[in-house]
Parts: sequence; structure tokens; C-alpha cells
Amino acid sequence: MSEKIEYQSVMNKLFGRICKDENKGQIADYIPELSKVDPNLFGVCLRTIDGRVYGVGDWNEKFSIQSISKVLALSMAYKILGDEMWCRVGVEPSGTPFNSLLQLEADNGIPRNPFINAGAMVVCDMLISNTENPVEAFLSFARTVCANPNLNISEKIAESEKLVGFRNKALCNFIKSLGNIENDPEEVLNFYFKMCSIEMTCKELTATFMYLVDDNYIGEDGQRVMTMSQAKRINAIMLTCGFYDESGEFSFKVGLPGKSGVGGGIVALLPDKYCIAAWSPRLNEKGNSSRGMKFLEAFTTETQMSIF
Ligand code: GLN
Repeated sequence: MSEKIEYQSVMNKLFGRICKDENKGQIADYIPELSKVDPNLFGVCLRTIDGRVYGVGDWNEKFSIQSISKVLALSMAYKILGDEMWCRVGVEPSGTPFNSLLQLEADNGIPRNPFINAGAMVVCDMLISNTENPVEAFLSFARTVCANPNLNISEKIAESEKLVGFRNKALCNFIKSLGNIENDPEEVLNFYFKMCSIEMTCKELTATFMYLVDDNYIGEDGQRVMTMSQAKRINAIMLTCGFYDESGEFSFKVGLPGKSGVGGGIVALLPDKYCIAAWSPRLNEKGNSSRGMKFLEAFTTETQMSIF
């Protein structure tokens, strides 16, 4: 069935249809630098396991991938620490917004999963303890999996978030007080803000996440990025926790493991088939790209290609 699908024409058709609807939602203006992005940009890229690439709209425009970077940080930490890491961060959906402080005290500082901010900070702390220069190691990991030396972090966006990141600072200090941050919270936050500020295009995003699509994926360094079982587990966490308190809804409507970011990007994938990235900066009330969600829902409905 999948071989017969004319991906480019399906994408063009859905893109045209969604562009006709009102561009609803709010840009993430709590990070001042992100509010400067043109809210009407919209792009999608699809990459199949056999290397075909299709794109529509602004798919070659760089943007701030924000929380999508948490998948890369998790992959790095999992590769270094293996299953030992799960005693410091859980694998359960939180049912709360990405920046919530609510459950942490009851859970003794063990965040519910690695994709809420609290969980990603614990992962950043692990990377600081286990690498000499975490920012360089993170960037180099991203460049290797994407096979692209031109990926970079926007210092401007990281600085902008640092200036206003009071809630993230509270979260990190709170986890420290509960004993689940080893390093100086300031160092953890600096790394966290930089990690979130890595920039990619939709095309680069689909290249980056092929290691979660293809069981036999070998990176440009000739190595597997992670074991098959580790990739399977990361996909499971993306399916259950990738969209915060909208994870059930994404699974219900789109039916793919995925991850969103407040920059308006969403990456999703069908194991053994394809990776798809959509970007549109206006977010719904849960902090996920409105047009991105709409496109992906229409795409898996039209192609009948989801995991279910
Ligand atoms: N850097 C952002 C924050 O901590 C990431 C949030 C997101 O993309 N959901 O607020």
C-alpha cells in the first residue's frame, strides 16, 4: 500500500487545504526572542526509510527546535548510562503541562518522564556528570546523527530564555533540594537553555531522527546510534509523553510517536517506514503547533499509515 502513495501530491494537497483555514493559536512569546518569528511560516518534510525526501512550504527554513532536543539528550544519556538512568527519571505520562512543578514534591524529585522540563533537566545533569563539555558533546552528537556539521545553537535564544526562565530556575533548584540534581543548578540550566536552542530545518529534523525509524541505521561515524531495544523504548516514551498533557490526543488523532517544541516544530515517525517533521509557530493552548498537529492528523488519515 505504502509504495503506491504519491507522497508529494498528498502533502501538497493537505498543505493547501490547511493554509486556507485560519492560522489559529499563539506564538511562544514567553521567550522574547521566539516572538520575533513570522507566525505564518509553515513547512513539512517527509523522509522515507529508503531515503526519499519530500517537502512543502518552508521546509528548508531553520527554527528553534526547543523541546524536540530533549529526545537527543535522552538518547545520549541512555547510550551512556543504559537502564541505570531510570532510577532518576520515570517513563509515565505526567498529564501536566511541560513546565509544571506540581508532582515533583510528591514524587520525591523524580520527574515523571524525560520530556517534561523537570525530566529533561535531570537528563542534562546526567550529561554534565558524564561528559567533559556537555554543550560540545550534545552538538557533536546532533551533528553526527544528522550527518550535518552545520547544525548550531542560537546563543541569542538561549540568552533570551535565561533572562526570563524563572519557572525553569525554580524547577531545577527544587529538584536539587530534593536530591536529584548532582551539579550546580546554574550549570544545569545553562546547558538546558542551550540544548533547547539548537536550530534545524524540517529537512534536517527528519534526517536526525532516522535512527528511531530504521533498526539498521548506522551513523556517519560507522556506529549504531543506540541498540534496537533502546530505540524501541524511546519511541514508546515519545508515543506516551511526547506532547505533555496532549499526548493522548496526539496518539488518538495522529497515531505516531512524536515530539513537539514551543518553537512550533513537531517530529513524528512510523518505525520502519518514515520520519515526518512539521513546523508552524502558532501553538495551541497545550503548547503544541496547531497547524503541525492538523497536518499530521490529516496525513496519517489520508495515507492510512500510522502505527495503529
Ligand atoms: N525551552 C523551553 C522551556 O523550557 C522548552 C519547552 C518546550 O519546547 N515545550 O520552556
